[in-house]
Amino acid sequence: MTLPLGKILSAVPAMTPFVGPETIERRRGRGFRLRLGANESNFGVSPKVKAAIAEGAEGANWYCDPEHFELRTKLAAKHDVEIGNLVVGEGIDGLLGVIVRAFADPGDTVVTSAGAYPTFNYHVIGYGGRLEFVPYTADSGNDAQALVEAARLGDAKLLYLSNPDNPTGSFLDTKAVAHILERLPERCVFVLDEAYAEFAPPGRLPPLDTSDPRVIRLRTFSKAHGLAGMRVGYALAAPETIAAFDKIRLHFGVGRLSQIAAAAALEDSDFESAVVHEVEAGRRDYEELGRALNLATLRSHTNFVPFDLETGARAAQILERLEARDVFVRRPGVAPLDRFVRVSVGTVPERAAFADLFRDALRD
Ligand SMILES: *Cc1c(COP(=O)(O)O)cnc(C)c1O
Repeated sequence: MTLPLGKILSAVPAMTPFVGPETIERRRGRGFRLRLGANESNFGVSPKVKAAIAEGAEGANWYCDPEHFELRTKLAAKHDVEIGNLVVGEGIDGLLGVIVRAFADPGDTVVTSAGAYPTFNYHVIGYGGRLEFVPYTADSGNDAQALVEAARLGDAKLLYLSNPDNPTGSFLDTKAVAHILERLPERCVFVLDEAYAEFAPPGRLPPLDTSDPRVIRLRTFSKAHGLAGMRVGYALAAPETIAAFDKIRLHFGVGRLSQIAAAAALEDSDFESAVVHEVEAGRRDYEELGRALNLATLRSHTNFVPFDLETGARAAQILERLEARDVFVRRPGVAPLDRFVRVSVGTVPERAAFADLFRDALRD
């Protein structure tokens, strides 16, 4: 008997938005020496977070607070919003699923850039939505104008934008973001994925208006705070949007220790600033490395830098050679961005090791 899958899922191909480095390590039978492929933080975890997790271990027999009250209270103070403007989820990745399910019915159009963050697409496909892709601009930025026009044309229910962007590192200024909002079709929600908000140019993130039900802003503890393994993200949105998510979200999805860790991370702004500072230094190192190796780099506002290998074939080859040298990096899956090798900022010794191995891989 064939598996009696539902209509939507039976049309969905087996896929995964990202193959984890652990999967690759098992396949290779060998560990990676440099883990620079997933834009995790290579700068560890705040000592305050470690202490809080250790102390919290005692309570791991209890379910978590399904309302994430303490964490949301702290986040509300940080962003100067009400607790009703916030929902916490299993990373941005988890929240993207809730958003797609809430707003896009099967067959509805959603708009994103071609080659943008694949986990959004993964959820859209899984819920039976229809993806409309807009090419990046010639200089590898999101095309605000074309994105919003595509949303109008397709009567889209969602418009997704990562800003600062993954995988290009580019950043759209307040004016471009405001343009999208001005032209947004009536029944379309603007999903603004700000996973890299902490690395954006200071003071240049678009102003926060949580009274506008057309906008959902997503943040995470995975990048600057170094808590990718804890799975904590949140959305800032209008109270009616948050109330809608409460109808379908997984209430016990963000574990007790994860909530404790995230709350403690908010208490250590010195640690966060140190990471942001180190990442800026690392981006400069990579830009310099690109110049030394005669490779263009994209100007990044994130914790990674894309190196331009000029063709997808060359990028694939270099990726393979780096893997053979035990270096985990990734490249975007879609042309023309697949000519970039995207490298997360590592620590100073990791950057030095990467420079040597990259030079070696290019020479081979
Ligand atoms: C890393 C990343 C995420 C993942 O965030 P989690 O909170 O770890 O799920 C989401 N969006 C973008 C654009 C990212 O680069």
